[in-house]
Amino acid sequence: MELLKQGLRWRVGNGSDIRVFIDPWVPDVEGFRVSYKDGMNMSMLVSELITANGEWNMNRLEQVGSVQEVEAILGLPIVHNGGCDKLIWNQNKHGTYSVKSGYWLALKERRERRGVQGAIPAPTDYWRHLWKLKIPPKMSHFLWRCSTGYMPCKSALFLRRIITDPTCSRCQQSSETPLHATGLCPVSVAVLEKASFYTKLSQGTWDNFSSFLEDAMRQLTVDEIKLLVVLLWCNWKERNAVQFGEVARPAQVIYDIGASIWGGIIQESNHNYGQLGMHANDVEDRGRWVPPMHGSLKLNCDASVMANGGQVGIGWICRNSEGRLVEAMGERILGRLKPRAAELLCVLKGLEWAVMRGWSDLRVETDCLEAVRLVNGCEECLADEGLIVERIRMLLGALEIQGIHHVVRVANMAAHEVAGFVARGNGRYSWLGVGPSWLMDVIDNDGPITSSVRREESGEFLSTTGHSRSL
Ligand SMILES: [Zn+2]
Repeated sequence: MELLKQGLRWRVGNGSDIRVFIDPWVPDVEGFRVSYKDGMNMSMLVSELITANGEWNMNRLEQVGSVQEVEAILGLPIVHNGGCDKLIWNQNKHGTYSVKSGYWLALKERRERRGVQGAIPAPTDYWRHLWKLKIPPKMSHFLWRCSTGYMPCKSALFLRRIITDPTCSRCQQSSETPLHATGLCPVSVAVLEKASFYTKLSQGTWDNFSSFLEDAMRQLTVDEIKLLVVLLWCNWKERNAVQFGEVARPAQVIYDIGASIWGGIIQESNHNYGQLGMHANDVEDRGRWVPPMHGSLKLNCDASVMANGGQVGIGWICRNSEGRLVEAMGERILGRLKPRAAELLCVLKGLEWAVMRGWSDLRVETDCLEAVRLVNGCEECLADEGLIVERIRMLLGALEIQGIHHVVRVANMAAHEVAGFVARGNGRYSWLGVGPSWLMDVIDNDGPITSSVRREESGEFLSTTGHSRSL
């Protein structure tokens, strides 16, 4: 139980239940407490450090805490009229206790007591290279599964005696191993061939998936390997779709989708922070901005945290079904919010504005998948951003909107630009109907490719072409 206590800390609502120097509430500092300084009121409350507007009171903070403590406090998101303070579990980033986080804490403790480093075996070069690739976690996981054989392809099912025939059902030519399904089946080769790097790949036979990939890593540049990985992943998704009765799509379509996802990943790795998807189900793999349906509006939200961590900009932009600017707004935020908190705050501010403007039939998009998962989940969010999440859910309810949506970064460029602009500047900006040229350029760029391409959002959109541009 002592262990459990060590992981618990308070999440600040209005701060009236938390004592600054006595209760655990500050992440990343010893004991989660602000160290006591002579002459201070020992029973001072956290609410005394918050202004009437619901922001951290910088002057008071500087009197109370060290530089490091103030830094950590500024990373805590608070909202106006925050409500009750709450005990949360510190070790897990979602704020909930899990067996695993308890396990890691216990392990860490034991290690520290013995004074030894972790006994996790060093990864081979292969894995070291893979982990360094900077690809979405779901794709790293996919590679791991292909390499270790934890894939529900026919050869594996055959080995476990679940099916009696391991032959690939798409080509009927050979046993369906992970490598065959993703890279060697003629259907999959047809997709890989579209990539310019294909001729660089050595032709031959490989024992397994990892030797194929190892070989490819020797021939290709880092960006080419990323494209290869994305295409292998797309091939696997396509294989599953066909397995579940969908009509096979032309290789060019699959390649185009892969290439636009890849474009998003390259963008992402040039960006200050952030990670792409974690769970494939939440991701809409669209490579560009898509206007909302006729009569609807779309709100794109993004936050920008400057490299030094001090400047946080949030920006959102509302456009109609013709792709025209309705309104855009950006604001610089005091504090040192982490990206996820900043993204959530941006969604909240955008929605508050939508309510005020009386916008309805709105679709909300962000490129922060974690934010989408927190908001759309049905559990109470016990993380530091929990209060923001609750507010967002409340406003979504008021606007009768079902959740928010994730898009890849290239489909969120306009909001990204607004956020970046305000992060570098000062204060608050808003543009109604028309914006500055840098913004109008992005909006134009998001506009129609050709008039013949169907741009309305619908269920069919994903299976038609129209992905090919974003590179
Ligand atoms: Zn095949």
